[in-house]
Amino acid sequence: MTGHGTDNARPDNFIEQIIARDNASGKFGGRVVTRFPPEPNGFLHIGHAKSICLNFGVAKRFEGLCYLRMDDTNPLKETAEYVASIQNDVRWLGFDWEDRETHASDYFEQLYQFAEELILRGRAFVCSLSLDEIRATRGTLTEPGQPSPYRERGVEENLDLFRRMRAGEFEDGAVVRGAKSYMAAPNINLRDPVLYRVRRAHHQRTGDAWCLYPMYDYTHCLSDFIEGVTHSLCTLEFEDHRPLYDWVLDTLATPHHPQQIEFSRLNLEYTVLSKRMLNALVTEGHVDGWDDPRKPTIAGMRRRGVRPAAIREFCERIGVTRSDGTVEMSALERCIRDDLEAVPRGLGVVEPLKVVLTNYPEDGEEWFSAAQHPQDESLGSRDIPFCRELWIEREDFMLEPPNKKYKRLSPGAEVRLRYGYIIRCDEVITGNDGEAVELRCSVDLESRAGGANAERKVKGVIHWVSARHGVDVELRLYDRLFNEPNPGGLKDGRHFTEVLNPDSLTLRHGVVEPHLATLAPGSRVQFERMGWFYLEPERSTAEKPVFNRIITLRDTWS
Ligand code: ATP
Ligand code: MG
Repeated sequence: MTGHGTDNARPDNFIEQIIARDNASGKFGGRVVTRFPPEPNGFLHIGHAKSICLNFGVAKRFEGLCYLRMDDTNPLKETAEYVASIQNDVRWLGFDWEDRETHASDYFEQLYQFAEELILRGRAFVCSLSLDEIRATRGTLTEPGQPSPYRERGVEENLDLFRRMRAGEFEDGAVVRGAKSYMAAPNINLRDPVLYRVRRAHHQRTGDAWCLYPMYDYTHCLSDFIEGVTHSLCTLEFEDHRPLYDWVLDTLATPHHPQQIEFSRLNLEYTVLSKRMLNALVTEGHVDGWDDPRKPTIAGMRRRGVRPAAIREFCERIGVTRSDGTVEMSALERCIRDDLEAVPRGLGVVEPLKVVLTNYPEDGEEWFSAAQHPQDESLGSRDIPFCRELWIEREDFMLEPPNKKYKRLSPGAEVRLRYGYIIRCDEVITGNDGEAVELRCSVDLESRAGGANAERKVKGVIHWVSARHGVDVELRLYDRLFNEPNPGGLKDGRHFTEVLNPDSLTLRHGVVEPHLATLAPGSRVQFERMGWFYLEPERSTAEKPVFNRIITLRDTWS
């Protein structure tokens, strides 16, 4: 089966194949409605991006609709700040829910009425066991559960108790359970599941209007029904909940019954994609907030400088299947590099080492024209100042090169300055520790374009910045947050915070060519040989531009 008339030429994934079949058979009258249903109890991460791209992507592919639904049934953990972050991140990723932003809490009254309906049908009851007692009597995979002594309560009594629960007459923890007659079900989720619980908590949207909150499983299927969702796409861990999803809708005989379909969640190496762990990293102070550029959150990646197209492309490349697996970090990094390939180049030095060109005039100055991009001429060129004193990368000099293959600068050796002249190191001035503090070099003034030695070849080319014109910047060099490929599932008993990479952030003072400091905040540039950088708007000031390294030029891990 092939794609369905959008910009997307790849073959259908298994979910799209199901939808195409449903459309062909007329199962939902040809309609396609999906939803992305985050709980606003944390920021979205790259795993959520997979679900966002899938749900919005499927709707677009089939000319359907996608809702952004806040699954806000647990007031203790949810905040308006998280709601705002979710809206912002989905929009930034490039998806538009138009007027279809909903909240499960919008449906609290309807959900309550449906629960009364279940009670009236004799399919739900108020259970006076505590939550602990319920847990203890639910049984196990091999043992059936014990029926609650309250499950034979009459309809009138249940209705009366339920209304009094809503009115606030019960303590926290009082519950309503659904089903009846299912205590022997092999699927534990079906053993008289809890549908509602009393919880006196202030809700970020409904305030104190409710002291009774519906459970996720009960809420989700009914919210899908209310919105006319046709295909309710969720991750594999909900497969065992699907019978309950269907049970609620079947028992209420809803006129429309959405189809739940499960796919495997994204797991990514060297990071964690669990909101609980991501939250702990923030509250325990291991990172600098939910949008720390080292985090796999959408906000963190945005702040680091990653662009949304890279994330969408990643989601496209990993595809959608039912097989569990872990994606290598390098797969994400490849998408980020591919996307950044088009940004302009620039010269910047991380660990500056002074070079003085002894045969260049004291007050001499030249401006060299250099292309903004080696392939894309449409980006034009910029002028780079050159003078007698330069900064080069400390790494590009060695007092004693290891062997003849060494291509950079060393005593007596020659290199070409990128876009500029060939220089030779004549003298090394060292500090007390024997480290070079300044190089005295001579410059071949005929070695640039137009000169007699323009074609002269030397082994290496290094980057540089004019010391007189260069601008001081802060460079934030990011690396992976964890040293272990699966920090969230360590087999040796260590806690995930024990395997944090202590070098995940290195702060460096750098010097860059002057025009880079005049870029608009939020611009991206490839510092030649160092990687792609992002002029971070939040941290940069006029006095001190701050560049985040988005990613190195090459995979430094594999
Ligand atoms: P937790 O981290 O506590 O398990 P969650 O990731 O399930 O929470 P939700 O806000 O409930 O958080 O997720 C919203 C939607 O995103 C759900 O449909 C969920 O299946 C999907 N989702 C969450 N994590 C991933 C992931 N790693 N890969 C793909 N989809 C995901
Ligand atoms: Mg969830």
